[in-house]
Amino acid sequence: MTESFDADVLIVGSGIMGATVAAELRRRRPTARILMVEAGTQLPGTEAPGMHLHDTQDGAVRESYNAHAAAGTQSMYVGAAAHAGFPASPADAEPGLYTLGALGHDGAQFPAAAVGWNVGGMGAHWTAACPTPWGTEIPDLTAQTWEEDLALASEHLRVTPDLFGPTPAGRFVLDRMATAFAGAWAPGRGPQTMPMAVFEGADGRRLRVGPAVIFPPIAHDRADPHFRLLDGRVVTRVLWDGDTAVGVAATRTSTGEQEEWLAERVVVCADPLRTPQLLWASGVRDAAVGRGLNEHAFIAGRVLVPESELSGARIEGLSEGEWMTDSLWMPHSGPQQPGHWQVSVAPLYADDLATVSGVTVGISVYVPTAVREENRLVFSDEPDAVGLPSFSVEFSYDDEDEGSIARAMDTQRAVMAVIGGSDGIPEQLRLAAGSSLHASGTTRMSRDDDGSGVCDANGRVWRRPGLFVAGASVLPTPIVGNVTLAACTTAVRVARAVAEELAA
Ligand SMILES: Cc1cc2nc3c(=O)[nH]c(=O)nc-3n(C[C@H](O)[C@H](O)[C@H](O)COP(=O)(O)OP(=O)(O)OC[C@H]3O[C@@H](n4cnc5c(N)ncnc54)[C@H](O)[C@@H]3O)c2cc1C
Repeated sequence: MTESFDADVLIVGSGIMGATVAAELRRRRPTARILMVEAGTQLPGTEAPGMHLHDTQDGAVRESYNAHAAAGTQSMYVGAAAHAGFPASPADAEPGLYTLGALGHDGAQFPAAAVGWNVGGMGAHWTAACPTPWGTEIPDLTAQTWEEDLALASEHLRVTPDLFGPTPAGRFVLDRMATAFAGAWAPGRGPQTMPMAVFEGADGRRLRVGPAVIFPPIAHDRADPHFRLLDGRVVTRVLWDGDTAVGVAATRTSTGEQEEWLAERVVVCADPLRTPQLLWASGVRDAAVGRGLNEHAFIAGRVLVPESELSGARIEGLSEGEWMTDSLWMPHSGPQQPGHWQVSVAPLYADDLATVSGVTVGISVYVPTAVREENRLVFSDEPDAVGLPSFSVEFSYDDEDEGSIARAMDTQRAVMAVIGGSDGIPEQLRLAAGSSLHASGTTRMSRDDDGSGVCDANGRVWRRPGLFVAGASVLPTPIVGNVTLAACTTAVRVARAVAEELAA
């Protein structure tokens, strides 16, 4: 062991969940000593660990990020950016996104899924859309403090309702959507701008909220006596004193050295696929670990709208460093309008690449699917590419899901026809499972320790004092929209519970 740090709380994972736990804990217990252990390292082309790729000063990296993000769907971003193979030695692994197959898992039934392997996790790549969770998305178990949890999560993510539009062309799209849906929405849930985890920087640029914004010490930890980031360490198991978590064992990827890091509390924020994996590797093998994997279905769509169809609405050019002018939203409204609609508007250029000839309107529809126990991760004793238990994903849709997906595709075609008019060019694509990167439910909360869940509503793992889990894996409900804001409420709850335990 070359270093030591006397930690009160050890957080596994430096993504948005790890950062939110750290930030909320810091707010409640400013002198609590926090150790964050992360498998990946800093992304090349960024100026600091945990920084979002969009916000780098490196113009080439930013342009490359925007070019990938402009595809408008997570799986297409990942398709261009993910590593499909993992090197024989983790020391040689480039920071970034990896497919499940690359890491040695069987993801054939969840083929478009990917995981982050860099400081900041997916929070250094994400689009930052933060629709407000609503209705069936809100867990009964957290209903009592939901408003406070959501307000805190929104504060950490700096969620802003209207930094992207509506421009006049965006207003045209909103109006056409309102016509297409003909008022079939719950109060306040009509077409509107998308809340985003974006803020205006000092130079007027719109910056994305990544882990280094949520918890700035991630970017410059040596300046902070109460925080240490250990990157390039794969946590292989939780360390126990009896049933009580007392730290973690980790492998240093650069040297293969085995290390042990101790702490009063351990919080696992390792994403919805690797949080249950680490629990399994640590001997927490309750029936609910890895079960109830849920993800909304994802229908990508796009309609090219020529200027002649825009009723004179002005088309704005792109701001520097952006790939869209408008980020718009049609929230789900329960049975009368079950889908979540994520809409982007960008100028469309004529063949000369200089004259604006219309707009391209990206229209993704997310369709809720039922939570079913048989959708799950099945772990094996075979090691994955980094020595943790490999898993296969069992995932399918039932007849009811298929019916909902078919109806959503019909509605999407109808809405695109209204937006595009007679000269619009629509396209539609049902994406493969896993493509949203919004998986949830694999270490779900439950009211009682009755086998239906892995932890309580504050992320405390049943019968394992000192061990907490946070993130989308803890959400027990079917999530319809983008999952991150809802997931952050679990991070806020864990931080509150840990702070209370430390104070006791
Ligand atoms: C291109 C893209 C666009 C997206 N757009 C949106 C959006 O608009 N809105 C939205 O809500 N969501 C979006 N998402 C999803 C969103 O980014 C994730 O929901 C969120 O970032 C997950 O945060 P997390 O902290 O749970 O996990 P992660 O970001 O995956 O972080 C987990 C970290 O844990 C580390 N880790 C895992 N296992 C171990 C281990 N054993 N030892 C040490 N470290 C470990 C990983 O390396 C990783 O860095 C998008 C994702 C991508 C990639």
